Amino acid sequence: MRDTNLIYDVLVVGAGPIGIACGVEAKKSNLSHIIIEKGCLTDAIYQFPTNLVFFSTADLLELDNIPFVISGSKPTRSDILNYYKRITGHFDLNVNLFERVGQIEQSDGLFYVETDKAKYRARHVVLAIGFYDHPKMLNIPGENLPKVSHYYTEAHYFYNMNVAVIGGGNSGVEAALELYRGGARKVSFIHRQPGLNSSIKYWVLPDFQNRVKAGSIEAFFDSNVTEIKEHTIVIQHKSGKTTEIENDYVLAMTGYHTDFDFLAKTGVKTEDTPQRKPVHDPETMETNVSGMYIAGVATGGMNTNRIFIENGRIHARRIVDHIAQKTKKGS
Ligand code: NAP
Repeated sequence: MRDTNLIYDVLVVGAGPIGIACGVEAKKSNLSHIIIEKGCLTDAIYQFPTNLVFFSTADLLELDNIPFVISGSKPTRSDILNYYKRITGHFDLNVNLFERVGQIEQSDGLFYVETDKAKYRARHVVLAIGFYDHPKMLNIPGENLPKVSHYYTEAHYFYNMNVAVIGGGNSGVEAALELYRGGARKVSFIHRQPGLNSSIKYWVLPDFQNRVKAGSIEAFFDSNVTEIKEHTIVIQHKSGKTTEIENDYVLAMTGYHTDFDFLAKTGVKTEDTPQRKPVHDPETMETNVSGMYIAGVATGGMNTNRIFIENGRIHARRIVDHIAQKTKKGS
């Protein structure tokens, strides 16, 4: 195991857009940095649906005002992967990929960070750990069957299959529409509320409503899937009525949450509310652990559909400003 003698000013966990933003800000403030990522660069975006077009416009995803030029009106997944790759190269960021952070301990004003490959020391740690590895589970019988996934990539795989999509957020609605157009035999859409989430994008909503009206997507509102069997699923309406329909695949688009186990290992507390937000000062993003910061969507806890790249990138500047101030005071 490598044991580096360097002491970094900032060690960032996670090389998503916000982790990269933290690296950029550290570099601009002449703070030494390292970014450690367990997967590839911008791993969550890499895993997003292949044909995803982002809701945000390109300018809202830019870092340090470096122009993000695209040919369409909204950036695609592939545009975004290319942009953050270019930013990482342009700023010559120090990124270690495919390296998993395990324990983080603090002693004598330093953080000791152990990964599966090396040990590091840093004066400050930023947790830009995202959310995409931790789906909100249904906790129903059959959820562990191989036909169930909390991730959707492409419709082709589901050609001529009976597919059920659970969850009335943008992921569920976009997946259902793509599956219908991609040739799934039957698309069933199940949502526990009486209607779709208010966050559904206004240009996606009529398309979905018209597909439901035309019967191309079968929608069950006020309903929950209560059991997943090998060839069927059981849907229960809030009235108590149950329906069992044929099913080959289930896509549970139920959203994602912060990695609470990892936070607990670092000593970062979470609020005692259903949202379980990590405790932090919103002005500086410093957590209850002095010198440890949290950034991006991970700040949401269970409520991760309010912070996006566009409103999370500001966290990087707040964090580095706070670290730079502390470093100046201490020198
Ligand atoms: P989301 O907005 O959190 O929606 C999750 C849905 O799953 C909600 O309707 C929720 O119901 C339901 N759900 C959660 N737990 C459940 C359970 N145990 N049983 C049944 N239903 C459950 O998640 P998302 O749709 O993945 O979106 C996440 C973020 O990504 C959002 O900010 C979204 O706008 C964004 N997004 C962007 C794009 C794009 O840029 N093209 C595409 C997709 C998503 P309740 O409403 O009752 O909680």
